[in-house]
Amino acid sequence: MNRPAPQPVINATGVVIHTNLGRAPLSRAASEAAILAAQGYSNLEFDLGSGRRGSRQAHLQNILQELTGAEAALVVNNNASAVLLGLSALAAGKEVIVSRGEAVEIGGGFRVPDVLSQSGAILVDVGTTNRTYARDYEDAITQNTGAFLKAHASNFRVEGFTAAVEPGELVELGARKDVPVLHDVGSGSLLLTENYGLAHEPTPQESVAAGVGLTFFSGDKLLGGPQAGIVVGTRDLVNRLERHPLARAFRIDKMSLASLIATLVHYLRGEAEREIPIWRMISTPVQLLEERAISWQKAVQEIPGVHARVDDSRSAIGGGSLPGETLPTRVLSLDCSTVAGGAQQVMERLRKADPPVIARIEDDRVLLDPRTVSTRSDEELLQALTNSFK
Ligand SMILES: *Cc1c(COP(=O)(O)O)cnc(C)c1O
Repeated sequence: MNRPAPQPVINATGVVIHTNLGRAPLSRAASEAAILAAQGYSNLEFDLGSGRRGSRQAHLQNILQELTGAEAALVVNNNASAVLLGLSALAAGKEVIVSRGEAVEIGGGFRVPDVLSQSGAILVDVGTTNRTYARDYEDAITQNTGAFLKAHASNFRVEGFTAAVEPGELVELGARKDVPVLHDVGSGSLLLTENYGLAHEPTPQESVAAGVGLTFFSGDKLLGGPQAGIVVGTRDLVNRLERHPLARAFRIDKMSLASLIATLVHYLRGEAEREIPIWRMISTPVQLLEERAISWQKAVQEIPGVHARVDDSRSAIGGGSLPGETLPTRVLSLDCSTVAGGAQQVMERLRKADPPVIARIEDDRVLLDPRTVSTRSDEELLQALTNSFK
């Protein structure tokens, strides 16, 4: 095999967290940390103070405490396994009360009812698809209630006549009835998305502040790190997860752990927007995107047969985060009518380039969004375009 697999591609779709293209690209520090962890030995599970066995989780505790305000944390392979572990450890054989509006499918086979039944918990859905009240949860409590589960409907929006119970309200009810509250926030944005012209995405810090028992989120969505599932919450509940056999089955590997820590350090240092690629992409001003689209246009003007203009368009966040939320962008928009097979044919040729270029089609034109293309890739992108119009 002479190509690495999976092969690097140029993401010109403008979808920042593109699940099919590997979700979040890592920062330089996070990639270097993964390489270091891979190449040699490390104190992964070794306490340098005592010379005895240590815990791979210990490296993360203080950082996640500081970032989220939680007492304790546990990191596993991905968020799907984090939620399955949480339900298995706390609610196997017990009833878990979920709002009907939150018994959702996230995509990629993650369905809240299926995860619940896999954990051995019994789903008790309450309320209606569009409206659920605290009294719906309260009325469903029995001797056998194990938890309340809230799941963020990451990839769709219910609009209009809706009502959901805020985490804080559930915490208050849970405290009275001795029922822990579990909250799957999905993306786990540590930054406030509304500061970037987007709708508010629930943050782990908010859940912790509301008193939620366990909060679950992904490492490779709006956190901008490697694939990982992060659980933050009370010491007592996190301990119960740590002791469950699935914690071992779902444990995070050393490369992901190292790059996750390096990613979280960017947040501690207040440099996330500058260092973490997805935040850099999300925060790129539209004037800069326009300048890049214009520079691409100038370059492709030289290519025979290419008719390109710069158009207004929208970039999506993707990754099951912020459904329907987009950012204004400028794209290179290619007229493909001179190519036999038109836009589809140009897309296919771009996919066959080295590295492959992934774009999108709108109104029979091929669009390339600079938001998700690193400036280092400009030359390769232009080469691929030249070859596609031959
Ligand atoms: C994405 C998502 C998951 C699955 O997370 P992975 O890290 O992909 O396993 C679970 N729950 C919610 C709400 C999500 O948005």
